[in-house]
Amino acid sequence: MKRVLRGFAFALAVLLIVMGVNAWRVAVPVVAVAPFRPALDTAAMSRRLAAALAIPTLSATPEAPSLERFFELHALLRAQFPRVHGALEREVVANASLLYRWKGRGDCPGVLLAAHQDVVPVEPGTEASWTHPPFAGVVAEGAVWGRGALDDKASLLAILEAVEHLLAQDVRPECDVWLAFGHDEEVSGLEGAVAMAALLRRRGVVLDYVLDEGGAITLGAIPGTTTPLATIGVAEKGYVSLRLVARDAGGHSSMPPRRTAIGRLARAVALLEEHRPSADFSPVQRELLRRIAPHVEPLQRVVLSNLWLTAPLVERLLTAQPASDATLRTTTAPTLFHAGIKDNVLAQRAEAVVNFRVRVGDRIDGVLAHVRETIDDDGIAIEVLDGFRSEPSAVSAWEDPAFARIEAALRSVSPEPELVVAPYVTSGGTDARHYAALTPRLYRFLPVLMTPELLASFHGNNERIPLAEYERMVRFYLRLLQPATASPAQRQS
Ligand SMILES: [Zn+2]
Repeated sequence: MKRVLRGFAFALAVLLIVMGVNAWRVAVPVVAVAPFRPALDTAAMSRRLAAALAIPTLSATPEAPSLERFFELHALLRAQFPRVHGALEREVVANASLLYRWKGRGDCPGVLLAAHQDVVPVEPGTEASWTHPPFAGVVAEGAVWGRGALDDKASLLAILEAVEHLLAQDVRPECDVWLAFGHDEEVSGLEGAVAMAALLRRRGVVLDYVLDEGGAITLGAIPGTTTPLATIGVAEKGYVSLRLVARDAGGHSSMPPRRTAIGRLARAVALLEEHRPSADFSPVQRELLRRIAPHVEPLQRVVLSNLWLTAPLVERLLTAQPASDATLRTTTAPTLFHAGIKDNVLAQRAEAVVNFRVRVGDRIDGVLAHVRETIDDDGIAIEVLDGFRSEPSAVSAWEDPAFARIEAALRSVSPEPELVVAPYVTSGGTDARHYAALTPRLYRFLPVLMTPELLASFHGNNERIPLAEYERMVRFYLRLLQPATASPAQRQS
């Protein structure tokens, strides 16, 4: 008995040592870069952004198809950025999207910076709760206010500021720089970005990488610390909605059958909520946790560095919150439920719509199979809802020169010394995926520190960008577009 206990104690000690070694052996490379803080005319920059925010470029819809506001924005940009419009080739694609080409000196794969001109509407009745009106273009309290300030006109204007600035210094890029500003990102990008990507493809354009909106910098995302975390999207989840329909002969409610159309459908929806697609760590997630590990408390560090053993525990912790749960699995969200016409009439038809955000690694076909198997009821018709759907994207590499370049540019313009940079999967869709045929390297990132208040203003009230963050953005694009004159970033352990 004593020997067994001794053996057990020995095994436990070895295990603890292995886990400890794992925890402290994980050296996450840090890119050492020289700070890059060129002086900027922030007052003029913020006025230009504010003027662009004052034009309500709501995504066109069948009910409101006018593109007038976009043409207004085009004219404004032309006036605001004369050098860009003098030196770059510019074409209007799909009626209102803008594609610019800044010709490089060499014949090498270019870079494409994407942003979108369109904005989401302001919910009726909420305008009064904005500190400054959403479409007034106000610079106040150290920020530029208005719908689109974060999503995504700041990025669009900051890219143009950077190019204008470099043109003033007679800089010419080594390889082509493409600027692609879609006009329907908020309603899928199926016109603008898709048309621009197709155009480039027809012309045989090859890209080094694409950078679009997506991740950002957040505080407090790493448990127990305030270490800032910059997440760069290397993939995006898929999207599909399924319609479930149960039919019944109907009739008088005084003589109901044992199972009505409503009961049958309710059961199906409940089953889908109970039996969700399984959760799992993707390679992207493992890398994110690996990069976070050195910055958390010692015990958490041991846990995060030994996922081979602790994955079930970490998974349990992550699935406790909807936001982190959604990063682990294909999500199931019943969003519509319709049936019945009167309290004493049996419904002849009950219909529900369930929206799924498809995890990278799953497929829409797999979701359909899962739904059929889970419901297991021939009395319910299942069909893919017309309209928008997309498979999960491919995963772009993070051990990659393009990723390293984005990371180095970010570090050089960021005041946070402890900044952790990691790949992640964006849960919402972006225009980036439409460029997949032109390069396997699609990255999604806005160099902005998103406080909880700013995050809430995304598609919400009081959308704004602090001036310091806008400066960071412009410097970031400047650094990214500058020809590689400085010594390349050095990787250190
Ligand atoms: Zn956006």
